[in-house]
Amino acid sequence: MARYRDAKCRLCRREGMKLFLKGARCFTDKCAIERRNYPPGQHGLNRGKLTAFGVQLREKQKAKRIYGVLEGQFRKYFHWAERERGVTGENLLKLLELRLDNVVHRLGFAASRREGRQMVAHGHLAVNGRKVSVPSFLVKVGDVVQLRPNSKHAPRVDDNLNAGRGQIPQWLEVDPNERKGFVRSLPLREDIQIPVSEQLIVELYSK
Ligand code: SF4
Repeated sequence: MARYRDAKCRLCRREGMKLFLKGARCFTDKCAIERRNYPPGQHGLNRGKLTAFGVQLREKQKAKRIYGVLEGQFRKYFHWAERERGVTGENLLKLLELRLDNVVHRLGFAASRREGRQMVAHGHLAVNGRKVSVPSFLVKVGDVVQLRPNSKHAPRVDDNLNAGRGQIPQWLEVDPNERKGFVRSLPLREDIQIPVSEQLIVELYSK
């Protein structure tokens, strides 16, 4: 299960915006975007204007980084989205949104998708009563996502639920006391509030 292991704030600085990869820190003045809002590296301040290709590439990189997905897997999602009915770009975002690590974050159990990923990989989650330790697991309508009995009262989950950052999207329902979430429907584009123009990603991959 490959994943990006280098500095996370670098990714936000490269995209020139907060991608909220680190949970609580992203809401403090320690955030690297608050302190050094320019691309990282020796020539960070001297980067020229982006070409049309560059703009498309940055949108794709942004989406990958927000969801913590590497290139190969992202491309698989894209091909999958192409085969589905509907608008390819929206299908792509919906597939990313249905990942279990994202759902755990959106339900408020984890402060970031990265933390959600770790919780899933460490076996703290169950879907429909069965342990699932694969962060890329895609939930379906009607699925019940729940913290497993030994993990239900982890102080970290309490903290995350109490912090209450971000609204629970309409397509999900949460029972904070039972540490349980329910997938009510598939996400709509308006439920996915990430600063990405999916059309540019489609254009990039359609070349
Ligand atoms: Fe990005 Fe969060 Fe780091 Fe700020 S603190 S640069 S939002 S990962």
